[in-house]
Amino acid sequence: MQPIKIAVVGVGKIARDQHLPSIAGNPGYALVAAASRHGSVEGIRNFTTIEDMLEAVPEIEAVSLCMPPRVRFEAAHAALSAGKHVFLEKPPGATLSEVAILEALAERKAVTLFTSWHSRFAPMVDRARAHLADKTIRRVEIFWHEDVRRWHPNQSWIWEAGGLGVFDPGINALSILTHILPEPVFVTGATFEVPENREAPIAAKIAFGSASGMVVEADMDWRLPGDRWDFVIETTEGEVVLGNGGARLTIGGVSQEDEREKEYPTLYERFHSLVTAGRSEVDVAPLRHIADIFMLGSRKTVEAFYD
Ligand code: NAP
Repeated sequence: MQPIKIAVVGVGKIARDQHLPSIAGNPGYALVAAASRHGSVEGIRNFTTIEDMLEAVPEIEAVSLCMPPRVRFEAAHAALSAGKHVFLEKPPGATLSEVAILEALAERKAVTLFTSWHSRFAPMVDRARAHLADKTIRRVEIFWHEDVRRWHPNQSWIWEAGGLGVFDPGINALSILTHILPEPVFVTGATFEVPENREAPIAAKIAFGSASGMVVEADMDWRLPGDRWDFVIETTEGEVVLGNGGARLTIGGVSQEDEREKEYPTLYERFHSLVTAGRSEVDVAPLRHIADIFMLGSRKTVEAFYD
């Protein structure tokens, strides 16, 4: 089979750190073009808009959209309309409705739409899911703590409405949660703190419930030095700790053997198999929880935040 001719849109941090190396390392793809207002990729054709790129390079078969969520819909719509397969960075859109429109369009055009959730491919996430499949879970505590100055320096979009603030990393926790639990949960309450000079939250506490009475509590905070991305899961058969963003797993106090981190290479393998099979994979469960948090949660204004 010929490699899929792919283009990248939004050449910024995640495109450079993960997408470009993963595409280069997978013989199933040939990177043929990029579109970015300021960024560019050496050795291929570069454009400043996706529209110009799609017109000038008709052989493009697929595009990866790596820009912030607020500006992803228009690009995704243009690519799908032109009959291209589309790989969406997380979160798949700024709203649930836009993703529904894209899903319907992909179906009409008979092309693949992939809502990627990279944290689900962290090394120990599937092992945790398999272990929990037949367990009774009483309680889950999620700690998603990091220092925004370290991880998101000078990213203004992340603080704007639709940029998600602390939910930009926090949605990774929810993508894992919705993947490993044997039973769906729903938001029962939340409080989120928004700095007085910003539009998006810097911290949040969220409670979830389930039909069987499982309790999930999440504590997300962007003001803390030192990272903590952990799930502490209490089952009737003992404690499970999925730590380090899904990279470490301890069951009943016994640390499980680590596997190598390859989130983005695995995402690209998955996208390739979806394209080859002529299927889409559209999962908005993590984004739906964020929408519910904004719908149900109480908002508190806190002191201004400066980079
Ligand atoms: P970024 O570097 O700030 O943005 C990526 C690129 O998108 C920018 O270089 C810019 O390229 C373009 N862009 C930025 N703002 C734009 C706007 N308002 N309109 C049009 N284009 C704009 O962000 P990032 O960290 O790569 O994150 C992008 C997406 O990847 C987000 O959804 C994020 O959640 C996800 N992600 C990020 C990470 C991470 O570690 N950073 C990890 C996993 C997933 P041009 O100016 O050249 O157009």
